[in-house]
Amino acid sequence: MNKLIFMLCVVALVLTGCNEEEKINALQQESAALSAKIDSLNSEIAKVKEIADNSRVISDTVRAGEGPFHVFSRLKAQVSNGEEDLGKVYVAIQDSVEFKLKVGETFYVTVDSDNRVRKFRYATNPVTVHVVSKTDTGFVYSRIDKPVVKKQSVYEGVLEEGSTLNGILFKVGIPARMVGIVSGVLQCKVAFPLARPGDRFRILLEDSYNQDSVWVGGKVIYAEFDGRIVGHHEAFRYEDEDPRSSYNAHYTEKGDALVFDGLRYPLEHLRITSSFGVRVHPITGKRTGHNGVDYGAPMGTVVHAVAEGVVTVSGYDDLSGNKVAIKHRDNSVSWYMHMQSRGVGVGAKVSPGQAIGRVGSTGRSTGPHLHFGFKNAQGAWINPLSKTMIATPKLEGARFARLQKQVAEIRKQIELTLASPAIKANDTTDVMVRMRLVD
Ligand SMILES: [Zn+2]
Repeated sequence: MNKLIFMLCVVALVLTGCNEEEKINALQQESAALSAKIDSLNSEIAKVKEIADNSRVISDTVRAGEGPFHVFSRLKAQVSNGEEDLGKVYVAIQDSVEFKLKVGETFYVTVDSDNRVRKFRYATNPVTVHVVSKTDTGFVYSRIDKPVVKKQSVYEGVLEEGSTLNGILFKVGIPARMVGIVSGVLQCKVAFPLARPGDRFRILLEDSYNQDSVWVGGKVIYAEFDGRIVGHHEAFRYEDEDPRSSYNAHYTEKGDALVFDGLRYPLEHLRITSSFGVRVHPITGKRTGHNGVDYGAPMGTVVHAVAEGVVTVSGYDDLSGNKVAIKHRDNSVSWYMHMQSRGVGVGAKVSPGQAIGRVGSTGRSTGPHLHFGFKNAQGAWINPLSKTMIATPKLEGARFARLQKQVAEIRKQIELTLASPAIKANDTTDVMVRMRLVD
């Protein structure tokens, strides 16, 4: 609008043939003043609108033993047309968020003067907020990531006679929430029955906090173990560009995965939208068993075989849509459903990681996703996530080059952290560790 006024001024100047500089300046000033007035009027309008809207926020909090259904049903009762509107909210959010609720987490609903849902807000952690807003075209999902502060700490220790690994990790100041993760990384490389007193380890952890210093998450960036019998081992955290890449894991400097005999992931990017087991539909409250894992992914994303095997099913039905089943050497069977297309036929031999189809939304499905199921040799559905899964046994090509850069960076980070002042490892111990803020 400002531009328009300015252009009108220019047009007026041209029409009158006036080219005196003062007049131009005066007109420009006038136009600036007008646009300032328009801005202030617009903000007045926004304020008045807000009051007229009479919107207010209602909320409800997760109690012990509750799932999303309980919280949604209390909210449903407080808004007009709650079943329908919150149902639409759920449809908008379901492919992006897995509701794994913790006691005290809160759902917020903004309602308008008619008590109809305008906005839904739920934070999965202090820095990740999921929002569903009502727009002219329906309910639309968006995600807000707030800034985090990162701290790196180096923990070093020596195994002692009669101490457990977890015990010693805790003793050197590693926060309890990270002990299991650190020990998992170490145990991938080190056979602990062969570890001996005097063996040394060094760990670089990175913790993220929000601005109020609430812990958001932690990662093992580096783990080193030097043992008399087991030898010297190092593990580096590799990060692909996408934080959901299935390649994000620990590797040796040579690019070998710490675990090398796991299943391959069926997708390169992992976004679980529904996990295995009995689930209660958050809106309808219906209980259903879910015999696999749902991964949200864009339409057409390549689906990979998780292990070597022979295709035993490649077909279509109204429920599963395009589906493929692969029987593996140990008689377990992996299942891939709702695909847009299938790339293999019955009887085909497939290798681990081979493309076997593309993500779709065929059969009974609300949006593009892969339903991935796994049957054991006895024919029972098991939780696929109970299997060890890896992206690759070895990083190659561009990914290996990226790892090498990251290894050099991690070594630099260890030096920097070791050169930082020692401070108390955490609130529950007097152990001092080297710690620094990362930018
Ligand atoms: Zn599913």
